[in-house]
Amino acid sequence: MKPAENYKLWIDGQEIDAEGGEYFAVIDPGCGEQVGLTARGKSADIDRAVFAAHKAFYSQGWYGLKPYERGRLMLKLAEKINSERDHLAKLLSLENGKPLRESYDEVETTVRNFEYYGGWADKVHGRVVPISNEVLDYIRLEPLGVVGHIIPWNYPLDIFARGVAPCLAIGNTVVAKPAEETPLSTLEIARLSGEVGFPAGVINVVSGYGKEAGAALAAHVGIQGLAFCGSIETGKQVLRAAVENITPIVSLELGGKSPLIIFPAADVEKAASAGAHSILYNTGQSCGCLSRVLVHADMLENITQQIKDILAHVRLGTWDTDADMGPLVSQGQLERVLNYIQVGLNEGAKLVSGGRRVESGSFGRGFFVEPTVFTDVLPGMRIVDEEIFGPVLGIMTFETEAEAIQIANGSKYGLSAEVWTRDLSQAHRVAAQLDVSHVTINGGGGFGIEAPFGGVKQSGFGREGGWESILQYSRVKNIWVNL
Ligand code: NAD
Repeated sequence: MKPAENYKLWIDGQEIDAEGGEYFAVIDPGCGEQVGLTARGKSADIDRAVFAAHKAFYSQGWYGLKPYERGRLMLKLAEKINSERDHLAKLLSLENGKPLRESYDEVETTVRNFEYYGGWADKVHGRVVPISNEVLDYIRLEPLGVVGHIIPWNYPLDIFARGVAPCLAIGNTVVAKPAEETPLSTLEIARLSGEVGFPAGVINVVSGYGKEAGAALAAHVGIQGLAFCGSIETGKQVLRAAVENITPIVSLELGGKSPLIIFPAADVEKAASAGAHSILYNTGQSCGCLSRVLVHADMLENITQQIKDILAHVRLGTWDTDADMGPLVSQGQLERVLNYIQVGLNEGAKLVSGGRRVESGSFGRGFFVEPTVFTDVLPGMRIVDEEIFGPVLGIMTFETEAEAIQIANGSKYGLSAEVWTRDLSQAHRVAAQLDVSHVTINGGGGFGIEAPFGGVKQSGFGREGGWESILQYSRVKNIWVNL
């Protein structure tokens, strides 16, 4: 395995330089030092990658395989990723800053995605439509062709795998553009796909900047599907580009401002812990981060205190220190989070924990911020209306169940929500009324790759995970046979 030094593009089964010959640096967010260089792919490189993916698709070198053969290769890749997990987890932590423990979780999810969808490859059945005894009418689920994936930096491997694995299972070929902050681990997986025998051109990965490589991929006339995960603003640009080409399938996952609703019948200690840990995990840089805590007014003091107590003992640190929370991913993200903290103060929210950049000693070289909690937060304040994407919680209160639902739904986002109550009738009643695509009741992790996940409202559309992903990345063909 290569050390984290110079990485090239992975196109047509080979490591190649970008056509312009340029490289850019990938930075360790914990210390600001360079981890390695990666090739700066641009529009010409996206052309090369889409061409290679086309060739691989239309030569039948992938879709033409027997479905179980595709599945078997995907399982081999899963096994290979698992055997290289130490290196991959380290590389992911180096480029993203997350604690090694969390990178191992993410590598495991990546393995699971290739296993799970490898298993689907030979189980994608069509349907027979009953028309008459003189007609055999049947429906086939076929691949789209080449699918583009634009990946963010918060869960680079997970989001790559959850989109790419279902595409491959059904016979599509792919071009992925990882985020500029975190391209290395994805390039490494692409290389491993070559080692286990994936045909050239089935998986292509082009590192580069969003405005160059990302925009070129979104606007490419040669792609038949596009999966994007990132900010609303970039999502709009990507969607506009897709409209120009009438790209038939677009999936947008644009983050959230997910509510954690704690009712009086909750296990209060566990619910408070869920809130605190939600901003610690991945330093709050998760689309499903429970950054709006809604508590019954009578419980405000107790829950705020419990969250503060947990956060008071948090150990910050670089990826290799077994810290509870790592740095933010970049200088830009650090500035964004600090700016939102200032916005919260200006809006009149009460800062009850954290709120500052951590700069003592070697922390000053990285992008560390204290886990931060605001109370006296009201609907309409920017800190609970906008996605901060950092370790910042806003705690709000409600008096009735109806009010809790109203506050929870009063967001332009609609990704996920978490409800805590031991009253099962209440749990299901509330879950049914929440304007989101995914509800967790009483914690426990909340997300399985075997189940669909995606957005409603401005959190986007399309579903990743489970059978729904297979449907998303396939197209329906109807065949009428006159008997
Ligand atoms: P972004 O949306 O700009 O970047 C996400 C991906 O899109 C990256 O691969 C990037 O290179 C690419 N990209 C950027 N501009 C593009 C363009 N014009 N055309 C095509 N692709 C393009 O997000 P960001 O700037 O990295 O982060 C800003 C904010 O976005 C974050 O603070 C957070 O709120 C949100 N975000 C959300 C998620 C999520 O999981 N939903 C992930 C990352 C960021």
